[in-house]
Amino acid sequence: MKVMKFGGTSVGSAQRIKDVAKLVTERGKNIIVLSAMSGTTNTLVEISDYLYKKNTDGAKETVNGLEQKYNRTIDELFSTQEYKDKAMKEVKACFNYIRSFTKDIFTLFEEKEILAQGELMSTALMNLYLQEQGINSELLPALDYMRTDKNAEPDTQYIKQKLTALLEKHKDADIYITQGYICRNAYGEVDNLQRGGSDYSASLIGSAINAEEIEIWTDIDGMHNNDPRFVEGTEPVSELHFEEAAELAYFGAKILHPTCVLPAKLNNIPVRLLNTMQPDAKGTLIHNASSTRTIKAVAAKDNITAIKIKSGRMLLAYGFLRKVFEIFESYQTPIDMIATSEVGVSVTIDNERNLQNIVDDLKKFGTVTVDNDMVIICVVGDLEWQNCGFEAKVMEALKDVPVRMISYGGSNYNISVLVQKEDKVKALNALSDHLFKNK
Ligand code: ADP
Ligand code: ASP
Ligand code: MG
Repeated sequence: MKVMKFGGTSVGSAQRIKDVAKLVTERGKNIIVLSAMSGTTNTLVEISDYLYKKNTDGAKETVNGLEQKYNRTIDELFSTQEYKDKAMKEVKACFNYIRSFTKDIFTLFEEKEILAQGELMSTALMNLYLQEQGINSELLPALDYMRTDKNAEPDTQYIKQKLTALLEKHKDADIYITQGYICRNAYGEVDNLQRGGSDYSASLIGSAINAEEIEIWTDIDGMHNNDPRFVEGTEPVSELHFEEAAELAYFGAKILHPTCVLPAKLNNIPVRLLNTMQPDAKGTLIHNASSTRTIKAVAAKDNITAIKIKSGRMLLAYGFLRKVFEIFESYQTPIDMIATSEVGVSVTIDNERNLQNIVDDLKKFGTVTVDNDMVIICVVGDLEWQNCGFEAKVMEALKDVPVRMISYGGSNYNISVLVQKEDKVKALNALSDHLFKNK
C-alpha cells in the first residue's frame, strides 16, 4: 500500500477534487492524505486573529465568505441532490462549530480547533464524492490515531497501533481518505503538526504502515534545482538522497516540509514528489542512494539574523564556544550556521524572539554585532570534501555578491552562504547560471 498526499492546490476547487478522485481510483487501494483546500487554512488563521482581537463582526464576515465558497464547491462537485445534502450537512456543522467560538474567550486551544476544520472539510468532500461515484471509500479520522506526546513529538507507537486497528476494521474498503496536518496532543486536545505539516502526516502514516512509497502530490513536477518563485528556467531533479532532501526542505524548498524526511528515512521508505496537474511527469525520487559528483539544487531561507561575538579571550582559550552556545540553549534558540576564527565566532538564528536577551548575555564575553534581514543560500549535492572544485564553482558564481558567512564541511551534502536579503534573487540566479546552465 502507498500513501498519497495531496496539497491545498491539488484539492483547491471542485474540478481539482474530481481530478484527484480519478487519479487515486486508477491507482488502487492506498491511503490518501489531504490538506485543506488552498486558502482555507490562511482564512481560518485570519478568523482566529479577529477572535483574538475580539472583533466578532470581522470573524463572522470572514466565516460567511468562506462558507459561501464551500457551498459553491459542493454545488459544482456533486451531481445528485442526495450527496449535495450530505455534503452541505457536514460543511454546515463545521462552520457552525467555528461560529460557536465567537461567543466565549479565545485562546490557542480554540484556535487549534478552528484550524482543524479545513482538513476535516476537504476529506469529508472527497470521501462523499468518491462514494457518489460508487467507490467504497473509508474516512480514517486523523484525530482517532494521530497523536503527539508530552514533548510535542509524534507518538509513533500509538499511531501505528491505532492506525493498524482502523485499517483492519475497514479492510474491505477500496480506498482510505484521511486528514493531513491535524492531530491530538498528549492531553487529548485537538492540535496540529504546524503549517505545511500534511507532508509530515503522510510520512508518519507511511512509516506506521511500512508503506511501499510515500507520494507527495503538489502543483509542480518535483523538486526543482532552484526556487521557481525567484529563478526562471529551473528544472526538476530526478533523484535525491534523504539527506539532500532534508537540507533543501529545511533551507527553504517549500515543496517539502522539513519534518517529512526523517520518518521516511528512518524506515527507509522512498518519497516521491509528483505533480497533480501532470501526473505522468517523472517527479523526484527521494531515497537512500544518490548520484555522485553532481550539485543537485539550491534553496534559500529568509529572515535570518547573524550574530558575531569577537573576543581576545577566545584566543588560545578552551570553553569559550561552550559558554556562547549555552546562552543560545538557555533561550531555546537553535543555531543554523556557524563560522569561527581564532578571535571570533559568527552564528545565525531564525528566531529573534529572545534576541535581546541573547545579545545582553553574550556581551559578557565579547563585542557583539547583529546583522538582521539576512538569507541563507544552501547549495546541495555530492559535496564530499575530496571532490575538487565544487566549492570553487559556488564561490565563483557569487563573486559579485557580498557574502557575510560561509559554511562548508559540516556534512557531505551542502555548502551554505549568508547574504543580505536584497542580494537573494541575484545570488540564486547567479548560482543557477553557473551550476546548471550549459553543464
Ligand atoms: P502544497 O500545497 O501542495 O503542499 P506547497 O505550496 O507547499 O504545495 O509547495 C509547492 C510549491 O513549492 C511550488 O508551487 C513552488 O512554488 C514551491 N517551491 C519552492 N522551492 C521549490 C523547489 N526547489 N522545487 C519545487 N517547488 C518549489
Ligand atoms: N492546511 C495546512 C496549511 O495550510 C497544512 C498543509 O497544507 O500541509 O498549512
Ligand atoms: Mg506544502
